[in-house]
Amino acid sequence: MTAHQSPIEPSFRQSVDMMFNRAVALMDLSPGLEEKIRVCNATYTVRFGVRLRGALHTFTGYRSVHSEHMEPVKGGIRFALSVNQDEVEALAALMTYKCALVEAPFGGSKGGLCIDPRAWNEHELELITRRFAYELIKRDLINPAQNVPAPDMGTGEREMAWIADQYKRMNTTDINGAACVTGKPLNAGGIAGRIEATGRGVQYALQEFFRYPEDVAIANLSGTLKGKRVIVQGLGNVGYHAAKFLSEEDGAIVTGIIERDGALHDEAGLDVEAVHAWIAKHGGVTGYPAANHHTDGAALLEAECDILIPAALEGVINLSNADRIKAPLIVEAANGPITAGADDILREKGCVIIPDMYANAGGVTVSYFEWVKNLSHIRFGRMQRRAEESRHQLVVDELERLSADKGLGWELSPNFKERYLRGAGELELVRSGLDDTMRAAYQAMRAVWHGRDDVKDLRTAAYLVSIRKVADSYRAKGL
Ligand code: GLU
Repeated sequence: MTAHQSPIEPSFRQSVDMMFNRAVALMDLSPGLEEKIRVCNATYTVRFGVRLRGALHTFTGYRSVHSEHMEPVKGGIRFALSVNQDEVEALAALMTYKCALVEAPFGGSKGGLCIDPRAWNEHELELITRRFAYELIKRDLINPAQNVPAPDMGTGEREMAWIADQYKRMNTTDINGAACVTGKPLNAGGIAGRIEATGRGVQYALQEFFRYPEDVAIANLSGTLKGKRVIVQGLGNVGYHAAKFLSEEDGAIVTGIIERDGALHDEAGLDVEAVHAWIAKHGGVTGYPAANHHTDGAALLEAECDILIPAALEGVINLSNADRIKAPLIVEAANGPITAGADDILREKGCVIIPDMYANAGGVTVSYFEWVKNLSHIRFGRMQRRAEESRHQLVVDELERLSADKGLGWELSPNFKERYLRGAGELELVRSGLDDTMRAAYQAMRAVWHGRDDVKDLRTAAYLVSIRKVADSYRAKGL
């Protein structure tokens, strides 16, 4: 529960279950199957000790497996003091629905370690991470064929590299060892474009939404992303990249940035790069010179804007503030930022919500590409790139020859030539695969949203699409 949350608010897991129940009530699943899909299959809790600074410290960690209708199961590992069993189970459930929606062939899982990562130095964190990984690896809760973690809040490439190395030390003959975890650094089996993947996915989700004027009109908006006023909560990996791409590439104006220590507001637009650099240096937005600073950051969630992007914690839009939220369009870049009760209030008000299981699926989508890369032991584009370039060169040469022979005086612009002649490398292929995934998943959701009278919102549509896929796969197994 966040500081501002009402005491009558259900827990995060109950909130996810309530949204699931609302959707499943519109389906014709047998009650047994409904229950099977909803419940979390298993949660492993581990308490382990690490000797640090001359004393033995005990840490508590979890790995929860929500659904094994497909394996491996997938989902990040979070390092935060707020980690608890209810939270990892809610997040594992969301992973099941997210993977199904974007057709990443995984079940859902999530892990967490109760720790303040800023309280320990790098060497200490490595010891703690390796020990946690050891506990999970020896129970096959990290394994390329069974359970594949990834970064989440408080973790990143560095932790994933330690986990991969720990797995390899314990499984020296597993040729697919690198596929035991995703989100690794490029030089340790990672893939180009994974760091920014979730933020990029948020951008692609919004681009796809704005391709349908009738959907945009439901949110009481019009036109394109250009000039739209955006407020972002959380300038971490997801929020930063989403804000950066939307402002630099789509012409959106980031008018508000909310962080732990307050918020920055400027209707003329904030410089995302400059704010990000300020936070990296000073640990927060306080003192940032080029904008108004508000100490009550959460209040800015309620400010006028076109698009609100909660990209930090769960439950930040809840029964205590939902009725004051003015944004007509909310994109859930975080997992579970809107509680079930707040979701009811916002839908009632006509607010359009692009739900988490879709909006933040870019991370797991590119994780899927990384896992495939690791299993195939070859970088994407390595075989095709130059072949593609030489075929394009053939066309360019032929056009130039025709123009010269016939005296047509055609000249291909240098910009066209440069772009056309460049074969797709790994980054271009990852972006193409991510864009395609985000478009296809949106189209699947909107077909249900517009195709059924009893479905009034994108979240219910997303649940219907993903539960149907999970149910089909259970049925195919004879359940
Ligand atoms: N932690 C991310 C999420 O919540 C990524 C999971 C993954 O790549 O497996 O979606």
